[in-house]
Amino acid sequence: MRQLAGAVGMELIVDTGGEDEWQQAVAGLEDEPEGGARCDVCFLARLRHAARKARELGCEVFTTTLTISPHKPLERVAPAGEQAAAQAGVRFLAEDFKKKDGFRRSVELSKQYGLHRQRYCGCVYSMRDVETGPDAGE
Ligand code: SF4
Repeated sequence: MRQLAGAVGMELIVDTGGEDEWQQAVAGLEDEPEGGARCDVCFLARLRHAARKARELGCEVFTTTLTISPHKPLERVAPAGEQAAAQAGVRFLAEDFKKKDGFRRSVELSKQYGLHRQRYCGCVYSMRDVETGPDAGE
């Protein structure tokens, strides 16, 4: 993200808090697969931070890049975004970025900018599942 922000001249704000809150939110859901119940809780926890930051910065609307992933249907992400937006007093832009060849384009752009594409979603549990799953070691 830092590499891309530098390449395109975009300011990057990194939220360094929230790990304890996230861990508490997903407690008991550690063994859920990616796409399971843990992810709905995760979307809400993460998007609450984004919504609060949007309000703090005076942005009326915020969105998320989560929907670029084929594993993140808009129908699962949007309810969390809208709930987070309502709580923070901003609006959520429910955009499905994977559509109109968006995912393929994201792969092209990551190659163009030399960006690393990790094989797991983002949390320690998704990393564990990739490391121990049927495709481990590929
Ligand atoms: S990081 Fe990804 S796999 Fe892990 S809980 Fe969040 S959405 Fe699900």
